[in-house]
Amino acid sequence: MRVLLAEDDALIADGLVRALRRSGYAVDHVSNGVDADAALMSQPFDLLILDLGLPKLPGIEVLKRLRTRKNALPVLILTAQDGLEDRVRGLDAGADDYMTKPFALPELEARVRALTRRGTALSNRIEFGCLSYDQGERVARCHDQILDLSVRELALLEILLLRVGRLVSKDQFIDHLCGWGEEVSTNAIEVYIHRLRKKLEQEDIRIATVRGLGYCLAKPNGEVVGDT
Ligand code: CA
Repeated sequence: MRVLLAEDDALIADGLVRALRRSGYAVDHVSNGVDADAALMSQPFDLLILDLGLPKLPGIEVLKRLRTRKNALPVLILTAQDGLEDRVRGLDAGADDYMTKPFALPELEARVRALTRRGTALSNRIEFGCLSYDQGERVARCHDQILDLSVRELALLEILLLRVGRLVSKDQFIDHLCGWGEEVSTNAIEVYIHRLRKKLEQEDIRIATVRGLGYCLAKPNGEVVGDT
């Protein structure tokens, strides 16, 4: 179980990181909204603990971006004691639960347990157009039909989906394939992208190329989705 903690208060963050690690979670800690957003786009987590009052990018914005990407990751928000309005906005924006500061650690840990249990069926799924990809099963489907992809094609598709709206460079593909235990050269990436592109075209999903920079997923009308 991997938890991302986005909290700028060093004291609270320290206590939480220690408590969660003691309970057996792998915890990544970021202290501003921009870093939280970047971590969520580049790596899979099982739970996000999100302080709403974050520097650089407010927690609510991090949450909205996550849900816009159709990421169903369970989210527990942390709010100030008098922050009723924040709480409502957080839940409206797609948070699953909230805790008011200051909180008792055992209660937070109980909620984390509940959310991660609930999340295992949901959090690993990424969707784009008709495409859905399950990171746990490592299976891609379109309209509920399993796509016939090789291991390498699937790995490339995974990172494209994890970074929807942003470009993926060849080096990033190579790094990602390493994580799958696959080694390929830069030239080979073009071949795999070519094959994956052919297969996705049948499903009306494009892999757009930005020469010299990288690739990204795009909807069939040519619009490149996302904020880059
Ligand atoms: Ca804060």
